[in-house]
Amino acid sequence: MEDLTEVYNELIMEHSMNSYNKKELKNADYSEMGHNPNCGDEIKLQMKLDGNVIKDMAFVGHGCAISQASTSIMIDTLKGKTLDEAKEIIKTFIGMIKREITDEKELEKLEDAIAFKNVSNMPARVKCALLAWHTIEKMLEKKDENNGK
Ligand code: ZN
Repeated sequence: MEDLTEVYNELIMEHSMNSYNKKELKNADYSEMGHNPNCGDEIKLQMKLDGNVIKDMAFVGHGCAISQASTSIMIDTLKGKTLDEAKEIIKTFIGMIKREITDEKELEKLEDAIAFKNVSNMPARVKCALLAWHTIEKMLEKKDENNGK
């Protein structure tokens, strides 16, 4: 049995129930849909850039507590970061969930998103936790392709 109390900590509950990041972003530069058919989680992620810096992000959608909280906490973590910093954090989060990165020092850069560390012990929840992070990965890949990088 999965021990939900390990995962549903206060921070995750707070973000899943009433997230201030859950709204339409006006004049977003980028928008990307994410879907996790295993659980029925769906999000639309929107991002606004200021040069190379993530100026604002928001999301709309629905799904389980883990997917919604993970999206909201990701937004808090990445807002204000440069795209290069964001890519590094995204890589680290995915590595943490897949248990490829376990070094505490390296995980520190995840800030609040480290709250999802125990999800790596819950195979059924892994895709929920990763949804937003894969969605922004896809968004940034498309952006780079369009810029001819
Ligand atoms: Zn889910």
